[in-house]
Amino acid sequence: MNPPVVPILGIPVHAVTAAEALTLVDSYMAEPRLHQIATVNPEFVMAAQADAAFRHALRTADLCLPDGVGLLYAARRWGRSLPERVPGSEFVYALAGRAAACGWPLFLLGAAPGVAEEAARIFEQRYPGLLIVGTYAGSPDPAENESIVRMINDSGATLLYVAYGAPKQDKWIERNRHTLTTVRVAIGVGGSLDFVTGRAARAPSWAQERGLEWLYRLYKEPWRWRRMLALPRFALRVLFSGELEQRAARGSREKLMAILAKAPDVEPEEYDRLDSHHDE
Ligand code: UDP
Repeated sequence: MNPPVVPILGIPVHAVTAAEALTLVDSYMAEPRLHQIATVNPEFVMAAQADAAFRHALRTADLCLPDGVGLLYAARRWGRSLPERVPGSEFVYALAGRAAACGWPLFLLGAAPGVAEEAARIFEQRYPGLLIVGTYAGSPDPAENESIVRMINDSGATLLYVAYGAPKQDKWIERNRHTLTTVRVAIGVGGSLDFVTGRAARAPSWAQERGLEWLYRLYKEPWRWRRMLALPRFALRVLFSGELEQRAARGSREKLMAILAKAPDVEPEEYDRLDSHHDE
């Protein structure tokens, strides 16, 4: 099953619930190649506008979970629908539970030294039978790449959490998707292991329910303010997107008229391609 895709400012977001995402993971595990999962939020979308490697990683990922209420609003504005928010920080638990039930060996990569080990103990206690075959903080630095890939391949992990924060983690997975030979599902989990170990606190449920988790995060980690300017920028882009599209369509119509004026024998395919822009 290929879930419906809602493009948000050029970045694909899949219209799935957490339960549907887990079912997809089941099918990924049966297919002998690495499947990349990203937990997309408005910050990802804005960062990807200016970062081609990140954009490529998200566009080629098998599953982009809608991890941000802003994406749900944006989809609705364009007459599309994302059924629910699937927060990465919750999905890591659901996935660990499924790994325990299905016997998928899990490797935890990233976060500060000691965090992955502690998170492993917590997951193992919570999900009896869970097999964690490796933990390593390491770094997304290319100098460490080869030794980390070898370590993961030797562990035999089929499920991999990468906690290097976005966009590093998602680019790391994309870069290594063909050399990680045993991994079937790799997911960038951001600061989730810090949440699991209690090093960082998630927003209170009232804030989560109102889509204000970002505000809580800004309060707890004020140095993020520059990065978080992405949120109002995202909102503006979404609000004014209709106008931008109209302008783009006007631009392509002008281009069409210019081509016709200069070259009356313009190829029909070229005409169709330009013309289709302002019909959309
Ligand atoms: N991190 C890391 N190595 C790096 C950069 C980040 O291990 O070179 C870890 C960091 O310790 C944290 C996680 O990556 O556990 C990123 O957390 P952050 O909250 O910044 O990620 P986000 O959830 O915003 O993507």
